[in-house]
Amino acid sequence: MSQVESKTVNSDAVSYELIRTLSANKIAALWMQNPPVNALSKSVRVGLIEHLNAAIADDSVEMIVISSKQNLFSGGADISEFSGGDLEPNLPAVLDVIENSPKPVVAVLNGPAFGGGLEVALSCHYRVTFASNKVGLPEVNLGILPGGGGTQRLPRLAGVQQALDMIVSGRPVAAKTLPSVFDVVVDSPETLLSSALAFCEKVIADGSKVRKTCDVQIDVSTAPKELFAQYRQGLATKARGFFAPERCIQAVEASVALPFAQGLVREGELFMECMRSKEARAQQHFFFAERAASHVKDFDKETPVRDIKQVGIIGAGTMGGGIAMNFANAGIPVIMLELKQEALDKGLALIRKNYENSAKKGKLTAEQVEDRMALLTGSTEYAALSNVDLVIEAVFEKMSVKQEVFKALDAVCKPGAILASNTSTLDIDEIGEATKRPEDVIGLHFFSPANVMKLLEVVKTSKTSPEVIKTTMKMAKKINKVAVLVGVCFGFVGNRMIEGYGREANRMMLEGATPEHVDKVIYDFGLPMGPFTMGDMAGQDIGAFVRESRREFIKHDPSYCILADKLVEQGRVGLKVGKGVYLYEEGSRKPIPDPSVLELAKQVAADLGVAQRDISDQEIIERIIFPMINEGALILEEGIAAKSSDIDVIYVYGYGFPVYRGGPMQYADEIGLKTVYDAMCKYRDELGEHGKNWFEPAPLLKQLAEQGKRFADL
Ligand code: NAD
Repeated sequence: MSQVESKTVNSDAVSYELIRTLSANKIAALWMQNPPVNALSKSVRVGLIEHLNAAIADDSVEMIVISSKQNLFSGGADISEFSGGDLEPNLPAVLDVIENSPKPVVAVLNGPAFGGGLEVALSCHYRVTFASNKVGLPEVNLGILPGGGGTQRLPRLAGVQQALDMIVSGRPVAAKTLPSVFDVVVDSPETLLSSALAFCEKVIADGSKVRKTCDVQIDVSTAPKELFAQYRQGLATKARGFFAPERCIQAVEASVALPFAQGLVREGELFMECMRSKEARAQQHFFFAERAASHVKDFDKETPVRDIKQVGIIGAGTMGGGIAMNFANAGIPVIMLELKQEALDKGLALIRKNYENSAKKGKLTAEQVEDRMALLTGSTEYAALSNVDLVIEAVFEKMSVKQEVFKALDAVCKPGAILASNTSTLDIDEIGEATKRPEDVIGLHFFSPANVMKLLEVVKTSKTSPEVIKTTMKMAKKINKVAVLVGVCFGFVGNRMIEGYGREANRMMLEGATPEHVDKVIYDFGLPMGPFTMGDMAGQDIGAFVRESRREFIKHDPSYCILADKLVEQGRVGLKVGKGVYLYEEGSRKPIPDPSVLELAKQVAADLGVAQRDISDQEIIERIIFPMINEGALILEEGIAAKSSDIDVIYVYGYGFPVYRGGPMQYADEIGLKTVYDAMCKYRDELGEHGKNWFEPAPLLKQLAEQGKRFADL
């Protein structure tokens, strides 16, 4: 089909090859090679321009191919360049040379093309790829929009509706769903290059026409005003609080309303608006935070990793069942242990029901359901666990019960087996003391529903070995969780920080705020729901149970969640019984405010001598969110979390903290630690006993605020 004639230039990031086709046409191939993801770093941009100019200048070259010899065509912009520096030539300059080349340029997508990578392809005159290849413009996930003409070229090639979907959602799609973007879509990647060269021959035979995307006219009848209005409406809930999605829509609108050159200018303006937004800073912070979570000092490259081929789970209740599904989904066999056969059968039946529900929604095939169920077996005998590599205990939250379980595990499990607890609050060091191998004991704190929630707090004790930490953190990736390493304390990071959240919500109700006001302010702040709705959903009795276990730490405050305690006394434990802080109609999850609860608050406030007053939105946010941040500062001081970004990952993945705020610690950094510190001092001084009890600023917060520093500077 072809032969390589000679290699004229070979830079590090882009190599240049002259290929003579069967019909003796000469094609210049530019191969991007910038591992690991072929990011469009400066070296790639320089290489592309140099080689494009060389190919254009070489009279013997008839056509130009841009492709890659890596697994990806290109993963897009080099994110490390976001912080600035000498970035010339920028991507638009490269795309300009491509689009204005007098010789036809064809992009041959040998692998995924994302962001700037797809924009390179869109600026070429022709595109060739294989059917299942993935392409997308994921910039919106970093709080920005495609700034290399993607918002102007994609609508011209894919149509306005599909371009909107791709740009606003950021989701990649298969190339075969974009027939108007690609000139050739082959079935398999193996035939890609030969088909691409055959396509080149055809273009040359047809007169080597240059076909610029910018010259494509959008049929305005395909993009009436209503299309955008409907799109905005459909997005209202999903995109609430985010800055970039609306700018993405405006950029695509510009592609319809303006000539190409002006559309590009508008795209540039909107791109810069996004770049300067606090939401983009937060989302980019979070992007790095998530990746940084796996970099811990507790192990290194040399630390060995144990094989996890089979897992045991103790307790087939709410958590045990969900945890088991994670392993079955990853193809890892699980043995579940229960006290009684009946509980075991019930647990396994619930798992089956969950899988069958997924199958009904089309997420699994019937065969996959059976394959996964086949990986789950049960037993009521500890001896069944003699060969497992990891056990996760998820029994009742009681130290004596847990210690008994660990003693039994110590007796039957093979040497080297990792013994983990899913406890939410108990001291895992103490649990480990029940065994003769505390170095193999660790906390694996899953969040409910455990088969859905991405977060896993990996809790090291003072004795856990580096090998066990490394093994469990690697295992988390296999079961599709985001692991964050934390230390032992009451509630670890997530639940310890949430304590103030429920406490202040309750206290403000005592001081005269309505639950629906508090919930609305917190929902509008960006959390999935407010504290009262959350308490009712989780069950007010769960909170009461945790409070009981910590009575000695809260007994100095007679007002501590007193309203919640009184509601539980009345049997108002939440959604599951149709009444909690709110009332619920049968079969509905919609909270209905109940005036009798406000009456109760008034009466209890009078008994405790707490004055009722109007409470502002700002006070609600400060009193609910700032104590969380303050607790986060204590957690950092104590070394329970290694870095503030770890706390942010926990809060976004475990508690639905809005990613456009980057997590509580990034939010604090954004508004300034002095703001948080000053407000803590104000409430400490103005809220009487309550303020003295709960609003003392953490020393670290004080220190950083005084130095004008951020948590991220630590
Ligand atoms: P659950 O009551 O639904 O399930 C506990 C199960 O353990 C029951 O099926 C029970 O029969 C079984 N069990 C009790 N003692 C046992 C023993 N000695 N041997 C074998 N099985 C035994 O409780 P859950 O909500 O799944 O909670 C389990 C653990 O997970 C607790 O430590 C809890 O704090 C923790 N946790 C719960 C959540 C949550 O939201 N529910 C979240 C994170 C962690």
